[in-house]
Amino acid sequence: MSARLWGSFRFALCISAAVACSRRGVAPPVPTVALKDSLTVALKDSLTVALKDSLTVAESVYTVARTLKDRLDIAGLRGLTDTAAALHGPYLAARRALALALAIDSLALADSVDRRALRVMRETYADLADIPEPPGAAPPPDSVRCAYDPHSIADADSLEARLYACYGTATQSIVVDGERLDRLTVFGLLGSTGDPARRRRLFDGLDRVWRSVNGDNDAGSPYRELVRRRAREWGSGGGPTPFARRVQEVGFAPDTVERWLERLLEAWRATLPDTTREPWDLYYAMGAASRRLSPRLPRDSLLSVSERFYRALGADPRVLGIHYDLEPRAGKDPVAFTTFGARPGFRYGAWQTGAPWVFASYAVGGFDNFVELVHEIGHGIHIAGIRTRPAFSDWPDADLFTEAIADLALADAYESRWQQRHLGDSATLAENQRARYFGVALDACWALFEARLQRNPALDPNALWTDITSRYLRVVPHPELSWWAMRGQLIAVPGYLVNYALGAFIAADLRARITALHGDVALGDSTWYGFVRERIYRFGLERSSRRVMEDFLGRPVSADALLADLRRR
Ligand SMILES: [Zn+2]
Repeated sequence: MSARLWGSFRFALCISAAVACSRRGVAPPVPTVALKDSLTVALKDSLTVALKDSLTVAESVYTVARTLKDRLDIAGLRGLTDTAAALHGPYLAARRALALALAIDSLALADSVDRRALRVMRETYADLADIPEPPGAAPPPDSVRCAYDPHSIADADSLEARLYACYGTATQSIVVDGERLDRLTVFGLLGSTGDPARRRRLFDGLDRVWRSVNGDNDAGSPYRELVRRRAREWGSGGGPTPFARRVQEVGFAPDTVERWLERLLEAWRATLPDTTREPWDLYYAMGAASRRLSPRLPRDSLLSVSERFYRALGADPRVLGIHYDLEPRAGKDPVAFTTFGARPGFRYGAWQTGAPWVFASYAVGGFDNFVELVHEIGHGIHIAGIRTRPAFSDWPDADLFTEAIADLALADAYESRWQQRHLGDSATLAENQRARYFGVALDACWALFEARLQRNPALDPNALWTDITSRYLRVVPHPELSWWAMRGQLIAVPGYLVNYALGAFIAADLRARITALHGDVALGDSTWYGFVRERIYRFGLERSSRRVMEDFLGRPVSADALLADLRRR
């Protein structure tokens, strides 16, 4: 590596005040000894130190570039056009500096972890090219743009983008009894509305959303066309489907996972009365806990109660620097999610957390939205607990694991003891079990749906969904309705939904182990967060998800903890 390039590294590092300049930039002098071998060793040592230093510098530049990208993304997501515009220049400069900083000969790095750190940064650098469109540049699609022939769109990515945008628009404009509602509000109402005829109208109102995805369930269906095209990418080289790939990432065999999902659904079915229900009555039948507790959770209390939930566990979201954007807004992403607002690391002389941002859209309060927010803040306390070198300061290597560890504490919100203390009222064990596992059972249905459809894209999705839900949820068959088509992940991230169902197995297993080692924390324990952070949250990409799980459990993940809890009466 030339001195000039080395100088560039230092310049790159210093263009931002956000990181301190390395004081270790100069290699120690080679000792003047007579023996040739000693000189060779000393020279090699010096080169090793210099390379190590260049990697340290690269990691500092990497932190700056990624933090600027995080801020740019957050500004875009929040619709802050001016902030996004102001960040563009500094971000591009940091990215150019990063390109220079990464010009290190990886083969010369002695340490295999260092080589992996360099590889991770290079891979991420390739992804950093995407700069979000300035907000407002692309107007939300209107009804004309959403009445399209999917075959007329040339490439799969464009079809997916159009489909997702139109799905997003449809979820925001559901009209029931002359009132305009969003998708989450409709689900809330389905669980709380006593009048069966109104429930039917609410359910029918979702037809607009289903149609945005599946049209008339024929050759003109955008989703079916998208799956057909994607299947050529998955299957042509004999490669794994997205479902298989996701579960294999954490060491599961796809067949085993399908069997676990079926066992879960059989256990769930065994808890149901021996009668069938219309799909529009399903949410109400499962919603007793929500109906009882929702009056205790008005919209303006969602955040304060959720924060109190984590504060009692030693994870005060305010202290951890978690930020929120929870207001509904036209054009906002319809899916709730959490992301980095910065990269964790030492800056300004102290450890800075990942400054997590939680995005969701809550038009109303209620228990279901509360649970979703607790899940999202669960991602937030995870991000805030990451303590590793800059190259590895990221989400873990498997979404499945990431989703599971967002829910390590969540189960307590379904415990009567917790509810009584924090909400001043509680649902019964049976009602709480319904509330908790209905969502998991539905997620398992979606996971099976995707597993089977991806394996055989010629299947009729309505018939497949009808088969799964009538068998396991005891729902009256309605193959004329595409009521499966109401999860954005089906469109944008194929195979993602298995993360929730399989994640529930992982969360239950990890949670049982935490309870065995650390004790029951349902009524609060300020040492819980430190315990979990050290053993599960802190690693980022430093260790594989599989290793973190198996080290903590002392064995591979098993289905037993979840199935035992599901059968609790
Ligand atoms: Zn999540």
